[in-house]
Amino acid sequence: MTRDKTANDISDCLKQLRWILGSYRAGGFAYWEYSPRIGEAQSAAVNQTEEKLSLLNDELTGCTRCRLHSGRNKLVFGEGSAQSGLVFVGEGPGFDEDRQGRPFVGRAGKLLDKMIFAIGLERPEVYICNVVKCRPPDNRAPQPDETAACSPFLFRQIETLCPRVICALGLSAAQALLGNSLPISQLRGKVLQWRGIPVICTYHPAYLLRSPTQKAVSWQDLKEVKRLLMT
Ligand code: SF4
Repeated sequence: MTRDKTANDISDCLKQLRWILGSYRAGGFAYWEYSPRIGEAQSAAVNQTEEKLSLLNDELTGCTRCRLHSGRNKLVFGEGSAQSGLVFVGEGPGFDEDRQGRPFVGRAGKLLDKMIFAIGLERPEVYICNVVKCRPPDNRAPQPDETAACSPFLFRQIETLCPRVICALGLSAAQALLGNSLPISQLRGKVLQWRGIPVICTYHPAYLLRSPTQKAVSWQDLKEVKRLLMT
């Protein structure tokens, strides 16, 4: 008698479990059992993106396509998440970046880290790169021929990453992406496009360090970046 009751209880439990799983499937979890495969597919896509970026980086090894190569200590290709929805594009490496071979690692980089944190992200969750990969002398802006020589690599980098939003930091990045010569004051405050990807232009962190009163304006731009990421 007790054995029959136990068998019935187990049978009821199994029915309940089947019903619960059926409800999950009807509620949109129909392929829950395949989630490891979806994870594998995503991971394969990320690996593919990382591989393409690595090949692109290799193409630039020892690059002498413009005069900036002569003062280079280390080429600064870019870094960050290969599955990020957000790419920050700056102007070019400065002193610290040229020494370390990494983008935005000096004082301006610290401010950029804070800007990223302010929109609820961490630096490793976004991708950061520059228009030119070698340091312009005395931290001057890249000249048009230098931008023309290096920007095709930036464009391939962005195409590979295929982000949801691009944030152009400063005039050089904005003009390189948008192909115009308007001042940053006229480019910021609106959603522009680069090959179908929304572009938000804002002030370069180095400029914000010199002109802290513009941080409030830049915050408006960052809020727009966040809104676009969430839509
Ligand atoms: Fe080559 Fe770009 Fe460096 Fe110029 S800035 S030398 S194009 S990697």
